[in-house]
Amino acid sequence: MKIKSLKGTNDILSPKINKWRHLEESARRIFECYGYQEIRTPIIEHTSLFKRSIGEETDIVQKEMFTFSDNANRSISLRPEETPSVARAYIEHNIDKQTGLAKFFYIGPMFRSERPQAGRYRQFHQFGAEAIGSYSPYLDAEIIALMDEIVKTLKLKNYEIQINSLGCGNDRHKYKKRLAKIAENKPRLISKLCVNCQRRIKNNPLRILDCKNPTCRELMDDFPTPFDCICEKCLNHYEKLKKILKQLKIPFKENRFLVRGLDYYTGTTFELTHTGLGAQNAICGGGRYDNLISSFGGPEMGACGFAFGIERLLLACESENIEFKINKAKTVYIAALDEPSYEMSFEILHHIRQTGIQAHMAYEIKSLKAQMRQANRLEAGYVIIIGENELKSKTFTVKDMAKHTQTSVDKKELLKLVAKQ
Ligand code: ATP
Ligand code: MG
Repeated sequence: MKIKSLKGTNDILSPKINKWRHLEESARRIFECYGYQEIRTPIIEHTSLFKRSIGEETDIVQKEMFTFSDNANRSISLRPEETPSVARAYIEHNIDKQTGLAKFFYIGPMFRSERPQAGRYRQFHQFGAEAIGSYSPYLDAEIIALMDEIVKTLKLKNYEIQINSLGCGNDRHKYKKRLAKIAENKPRLISKLCVNCQRRIKNNPLRILDCKNPTCRELMDDFPTPFDCICEKCLNHYEKLKKILKQLKIPFKENRFLVRGLDYYTGTTFELTHTGLGAQNAICGGGRYDNLISSFGGPEMGACGFAFGIERLLLACESENIEFKINKAKTVYIAALDEPSYEMSFEILHHIRQTGIQAHMAYEIKSLKAQMRQANRLEAGYVIIIGENELKSKTFTVKDMAKHTQTSVDKKELLKLVAKQ
């Protein structure tokens, strides 16, 4: 029986892997330019880490986590996203004692048990940024500018940045009370919502705003949004953020329904969407999470971050036919013509590789024609032919594949020549 990969998981093979590397490398460069340092956290964590931060009422915790018990019957989950792990690591390593503002970036796989479809997988990959240690709207602006820079560097065009503010804990409390009043006064309206939203309206009203049910969505147009309950301080923060974004010439749209599917967000939320992706149109999402660090037992710390879905980012690039400039490595192919030449050929192969140049040869003796075909497939710049004559004269025939010329050189000259490619 053939064993296949799990539903919703993907193998990433050559040549596609080159696109992945290009994306990851350009993201790394930009993260570092903005002063963010890489963090790598475990893929498995205590389930409670995610439950407590993402929230019991969210889709991720309710139905999307891969959770299992370990040998000691502890509940473990594969990480569905990275922010809770970064917050945990920040507290566990007392980072606040080492630096005022800590800026991290990460790249890695995330796991959600969702129905697989275009742009939605069970193992997918994210890169993202988390900045912990400031309440300044300049930090929100930096995070959004960093997100924008990543897509700009890739030359994406058909994207849009949406922003919103959810207000602080007090504002959220006000909003909750306001919705509770609606629930009390308009039972007929509430009964039209889906069963989940009827429950959510009492314990987690923000979640009704991102319900996918079409009836709920329509009804939401007549409901107040968190922005209607925002306090002066949060409003000033939001207005300042908008002013900075305008100053930096980063276009954005305001969307009062942008609440994002995670409970830990406070204040600013944002999303980057793309028109070429159909239903799964969000490439990146993020926002402020000023209460998360303290809710984990850490210090009071303002924080802000985002996460890009790498698969969706690639799909967006493909929909705009974006060409990735992949630097092709210099490649040499060594064609051994017979068994006696093989030993010498393998030694030359080894020496060329030791100079840092990519070199190939066949592991079975094949016709020169078959080997030239293989050299072409590998886009080799030079083919070195080694047979009986070359063994005797200790000189090697070198074919320049671009110029269609051929020369004869000794070993020393050979190494110099291939290095010049
Ligand atoms: P969606 O609304 O599409 O479910 P989300 O709000 O659950 O997205 P986040 O948790 O904010 O997404 O994750 C940030 C980004 O990660 C998303 O914008 C998306 O690009 C990507 N992403 C999330 N879930 C998946 C998935 N199952 N498969 C592929 N990419 C995903
Ligand atoms: Mg989701």
